Amino acid sequence: MSMNTGSMSYRDEIKHLVDADREYLWHPFTQMKEWREEDPVIISEGRDCFVKDVRGRWYLDAVSSLWVNIHGHRKKEVDEAIQGQLGKIAHTTFLGLGNIPAIRLAERLLSLTGRAFTGLEPRLSKVFYSDNGSTAVEVALKMAFQYWMHRGMPEKRSFLSLTNAYHGDTLGAVSVGGVDIFHHTFAPLLFPTFKAPAPYCYRCPLRKSCPECSLACLKEMEEMLERHSPEIAAVIIEPLVQAAGGMIIWPEGYLRGVRELCTRYNVLMIADEVATGFGRTGQMFACEHEQVVPDLLCLSKGITNGYLPLAVTLTTDTVYNAFLGEFRELKTFFHGHSYTGNPLACSAALACLDVFEKEQTLGHLPPKIALLQEKLAEIATLPHVGDVRNKGLMAGIELVRERDSKEPYPWEEKMGWKVAYAARQYGILLRPLGNVLVIMPPLSLSGENLGLLMDFVKTSIITATENGSL
Ligand SMILES: *Cc1c(COP(=O)(O)O)cnc(C)c1O
Repeated sequence: MSMNTGSMSYRDEIKHLVDADREYLWHPFTQMKEWREEDPVIISEGRDCFVKDVRGRWYLDAVSSLWVNIHGHRKKEVDEAIQGQLGKIAHTTFLGLGNIPAIRLAERLLSLTGRAFTGLEPRLSKVFYSDNGSTAVEVALKMAFQYWMHRGMPEKRSFLSLTNAYHGDTLGAVSVGGVDIFHHTFAPLLFPTFKAPAPYCYRCPLRKSCPECSLACLKEMEEMLERHSPEIAAVIIEPLVQAAGGMIIWPEGYLRGVRELCTRYNVLMIADEVATGFGRTGQMFACEHEQVVPDLLCLSKGITNGYLPLAVTLTTDTVYNAFLGEFRELKTFFHGHSYTGNPLACSAALACLDVFEKEQTLGHLPPKIALLQEKLAEIATLPHVGDVRNKGLMAGIELVRERDSKEPYPWEEKMGWKVAYAARQYGILLRPLGNVLVIMPPLSLSGENLGLLMDFVKTSIITATENGSL
């Protein structure tokens, strides 16, 4: 929509946008009754790690536009790659046709995982495209299911997932999810799964403490696999960080333990790195931290720097080869989307990987991670902060009403949001998960701005928790 045109003043134009948003839109994960009573922030442009609203106010994008932005907004290389591809073709189907950026990106991703997982088994060697994190997970689940069918073990058709897991919002992804507040409503529509306790050490579901527990939660998973592996196709996990479940950071060894169990009990391992992939944890992939390779790897969010929707499910020759056969055998993987392998999105993703190399994005992270940890340690001393945790540049700050008893704020109190609104006064955009504040800035955020961000977060926590209300 153009601004300042015709007889409308700029103020009228803003009012029109606000009214039209309230009148016509339904926002995701949003109680619209409340939204319509708020003064919405409507974004008009962005630069680096900042976004600007129609009223001309700039904000630090501290959640990377919901975890997708890695290199900042309006990244020249990505802009140019998309413009270059626009001069050729924007979209063509991937059903029955190939295209250049999709081929190049597959090569590039496999060389990336090849380097990340050198010398480890299994080897990821095939790329299946889709459009978002949820579909990357659906693809992995369906592949795993059909794989065992082709292997002559159709009774291996269930999945084992974790409590507090989040794998997306489509029904298959919700079935393997474990965040009650999102997922409970849809329970009657879901397929049953086995649920193992998450290694959520601050609130251990087994009431133990780490490391004295020797990963008792992993033992529980093992017992389930011991009993049920003949019915289980795959274990699905978010390696190292259960992000949407509350930025839960796993104790060392748990991820490796899951891989070992999957191998021992002959089930596939699906690693959902939709949130953790592309450098968020300090390594390109979270699985690298424990030298683990899954049988299926789901990637999305950071893949195009948030420019265009794209996702991939990577897998091995073992899985892929099981689907090979004569046409009439119907071993084909019957799954695909209209926008699968979109050339614009793939060219954006290629440019993002170029930026990783050119700017040595990962190499610049260690001092930023150290600074983040230093600031988190300060925040940890606040009276209403129960726990702080991070892996790389993904951090969670868990607010509590009572520190010693770990008594949470009742969720209806929306304490996370109170802090987020306080932070907005300082020009910072946050999106909490219940009582957990999420800090997940673009990897390109400067150390200086990261320090400022954390200082404002600290002040905002004090304001919101001490004043009670705002
Ligand atoms: C965000 C997320 C998804 C879902 O991705 P969408 O693109 O929102 O569908 C799946 N898994 C994990 C781990 C995520 O963080």
